[in-house]
Amino acid sequence: MKRLILFGAPGSGKGTMGDLIQRDFHLVKISTGDILRSAIQQDTAEGRRARAFMESGGLVPDKLVIELVRLRLSRGDLNGGYVMDGYPRTLAQAQALSLIASDSEKAVFIEVMEAEAVARLLSRLTCSDCGAIYNQLTKPPQKDGICDICRGRVVRRTDDTEEAVRQRFRVYAERTMPVIEYYGRKNVLARVDGGGAAAQVYLRIKGLIA
Ligand SMILES: [Zn+2]
Repeated sequence: MKRLILFGAPGSGKGTMGDLIQRDFHLVKISTGDILRSAIQQDTAEGRRARAFMESGGLVPDKLVIELVRLRLSRGDLNGGYVMDGYPRTLAQAQALSLIASDSEKAVFIEVMEAEAVARLLSRLTCSDCGAIYNQLTKPPQKDGICDICRGRVVRRTDDTEEAVRQRFRVYAERTMPVIEYYGRKNVLARVDGGGAAAQVYLRIKGLIA
């Protein structure tokens, strides 16, 4: 395996699993969120275009996301392999990824029940500067309200109401289905039960990718 692709609805624990996998398997974590943030910070041409879409409240279009991912993959620092988090999100992105880099790949879909995901999301905190994710119940920052990594402000997302969280979960399940099916047809998809404690979920995933 060179490319590992992680799928999971909001609240599935995908971000945490990605961090653990990156650490233990020495893979570079590639997340569209990070790529977008850094392109915007560095004020590249793509970053400026992405920012315009985000500021107007719209989604960054597939074509631009694909270009940003292509630039990232071409940087030449991924020989040991990489784990993708939050990409591909659409069938077009998945097909483009296969063309951009024909690395051997494995996709892992972390499945979690809606009720459990919603409970996790409602206790979630995010660093407003670097995007690091914490959890009031399971993984609070060391200092209340302050990011362990960058000392930024750790806040609860204001759009994290129960109704909004349920909606995000359902939209993810619906939108991602064609992408999951795509990797199923390629015979590189594994499904993992994402219920319960993070350590347990991680053991299940490790068993699949070790
Ligand atoms: Zn931070």
